[in-house]
Amino acid sequence: MSSTIIALAPILQTLNMYMQRRACIISTGAIRVTKHVTLLKEVVLEILKTRRQIYRLTYLYKIKNHLVPDYLCNVYPLFHHNTENYNLRRHANLIPIRSRTVAYYNSFLLATIRDWNSLSAELITATSLASFKRLLKKNLNLCSKKIYSRGHGYEKKIHIRLRLGLSALNDHLYKYNLTLNRFCDFCPGNRIESTEHYFIHCARYTNYRITLLLRIKNLLCPDINIAMLRDLCPIYLSKILIEGSDDLSDDTNLELFECVFGFIESSNRFSR
Ligand SMILES: [Zn+2]
Repeated sequence: MSSTIIALAPILQTLNMYMQRRACIISTGAIRVTKHVTLLKEVVLEILKTRRQIYRLTYLYKIKNHLVPDYLCNVYPLFHHNTENYNLRRHANLIPIRSRTVAYYNSFLLATIRDWNSLSAELITATSLASFKRLLKKNLNLCSKKIYSRGHGYEKKIHIRLRLGLSALNDHLYKYNLTLNRFCDFCPGNRIESTEHYFIHCARYTNYRITLLLRIKNLLCPDINIAMLRDLCPIYLSKILIEGSDDLSDDTNLELFECVFGFIESSNRFSR
């Protein structure tokens, strides 16, 4: 029975990943070949490998702190207790176990001991399960980023694609080897048609951009003129237009995105 489960594990893992990916593509409206990690970030999910790592480490924390039945806590002697030369980091480390086979090397206990010993002292000595989980996610850079987006429809779908880095813009298609031309078809002088070019520089959308900048100027900084707003920091402005900003309130971010949706619609750059 157990050998059947081990044999089926890779198939189940592939199937699980496929289902997860399909769900991400359907819910975001992303283009089918969009990078998996980028998709998961958009829907604030971890890749399965990271999710398993979090689960394993959390379980080991529970074992260490007797938050599981006694028979599971028998591995606790693996923790160092060097009282002669007390060192917090060493004290919390686990004794590594040697293995002769790959399967045993990748088993729960051995893999988790390796991961545990690479954690920071702050994590290993966390005083509660909740703080351990919070610090672990922070350590793995998994703190969920707030996505300021709502509504549905064509403009939102394009907006998400721009955020994912794969839309009909030539630079995006070029990076995915879907075209040989990464330059703007309208602007002279081989200007790369990036997200920044589309929102901030492209001469084709000047009129629509003026409308956009006038609208967002009142949200971001009413005291400066739109030329200053555009030239101040184009990369930063372009980033705010697709990701929003934590420095603004939720309502302001949503208003900002409404303005961006208007620009996307009027520019007519993306086919429906
Ligand atoms: Zn252009």
